This record gives sequence, structure tokens and C-alpha cells, in this order.
Amino acid sequence: MESELDYWSAKALLEWQVELGATEAMLDAPVDRYGLGEQKPKPARGAAAAPVPVVPKEADPVAEAQKAAQAAQALPSLRAAMEAFEHCELKPGARNLVFADGQAGARVMVIGGAPGRDEDLEGRPFVGASGRLLDNMLAAIDLSREKNVYITTVLPWRPPQNRDPSPAELAMLVPFLERHVALAQPDILVVMGDLACQAVLGKRGLSRLRGQWDQVWGKPVLPMLHPEDLMRQPQAKRQAWADLLALRARLNAQN
Ligand code: URA
Repeated sequence: MESELDYWSAKALLEWQVELGATEAMLDAPVDRYGLGEQKPKPARGAAAAPVPVVPKEADPVAEAQKAAQAAQALPSLRAAMEAFEHCELKPGARNLVFADGQAGARVMVIGGAPGRDEDLEGRPFVGASGRLLDNMLAAIDLSREKNVYITTVLPWRPPQNRDPSPAELAMLVPFLERHVALAQPDILVVMGDLACQAVLGKRGLSRLRGQWDQVWGKPVLPMLHPEDLMRQPQAKRQAWADLLALRARLNAQN
């Protein structure tokens, strides 16, 4: 480093330091120790280093959901695991957990999207106007929740203002849904609406997907228009009827 001092000033400074008692030079360049601010004292050589505080790792909601879902060995314990799950922000805003309705073990499992006001109040899926339409659709092919259909929804809690779930919320609820399917053991899954398609198939775009059989979690999956879609666009009932007939045919063929 190039010194800004001339030879004579540097010599005078050095002599002054020697006069003050300095006996050896430690660094090439001077250090302004007043300008360094407060520094933590270094532990004496040989002394044990101070323990590093352990900062608890933030829980990973998806991993927690997977663990809780896998631990459930039957539908009642899955329900209990979902009731105990505290990582989803939808839960505190909902009145009730919406778990399932109908016949566990039925050959057909219908998966809807999100509970609405009526479902939230009763804690059962598809009990409002869209539920009545769903019952009529099922009855047209000799199915009913009283006899031979099991019903659930992707979201077990009604979202505030019926908003869409965030990707993080969806990701932490899918492990419960997958386990729900595994424990209910249906032959066929019917996924109704875009949210159910997204959760189960990982795809959206119902006008393209509906009526196209797919395979997920080891089960044949039929995407269908949601009863709410049909209430908004009654002209689409023809397509829903075609999909119901395809479902009936598949059930008959697998008998
Ligand atoms: N829509 C759904 O997807 N599920 C319900 O339970 C009610 C409305």
C-alpha cells in the first residue's frame, strides 16, 4: 500500500510510538479501532465456543399433512387428523369441517370443490342447491348417497367469501384427499368442477377435460361439470347427461 506520509513524518511518528512503548508492528496498515464499532470479544484460545442457539425450523404444512394423513388407518381417524390440523388458514374462518357424506366403501366417490354456506353450516358436502341438483343427476343413473355413492370435497373448510384456495392451501389439503380416497376404496372417482380437477388431476380447463377418463391414485377418474356450472349454464346439461351415461356404462362393465 502506497503511504501518503513523507519519509520524515513517518519516521517522526514511528519514533513517537516507540517512545510510548510500542515494541513491534503487527499489521502492514494501521487500524482505526475507534472506528470499528463494538465487536463481540473472541473467545480465548482453547475456551469452548458459545453454543449456537437452536432456532426451531418452521413446520412444513405439506409434510405435516402427509404425515398426519398417512398415520390415519381408517376414515374416522382421518377425520380426526383433519380436525387436529392447524396449518391451514381456511380452518379458523369455517364453522365446521366438511368431511364426507354417503356410503363409505361405495363404488363411486364424488369429489367436489369447496363447501359453500349451507355445507359450512351443516358440516356435510353438497347440501345446498347444488347438492339437490347433484342428487337428481345421480338418481338419473340409479345412484344415490343413501345407497351407493360416497361424497367429499377438496376443501374441508369453506373459504372466506368463497375465495379460491391459494396454491399452498391446496398443496397441504391434497394429501388428506388422497388418503381419503385410499381409505374409502371406491372403484371410480368422479371429479366435479375445476377445483377438483386441479386437485386430483393437476389440470384445469373443464370444457376440455370433462368426459375424458383419466387415471389417478390407481383409480379411473371421470371429470364432470359441477352442478354449480350447470345452474349457471343449463344448456351444458346435455354434456353432463352424456358423462353420467358414460359413468353408468363403466359401472355396468366393471360389474
Ligand atoms: N360445491 C362443492 O364443490 N361442494 C359442496 O359441498 C358444495 C358446493
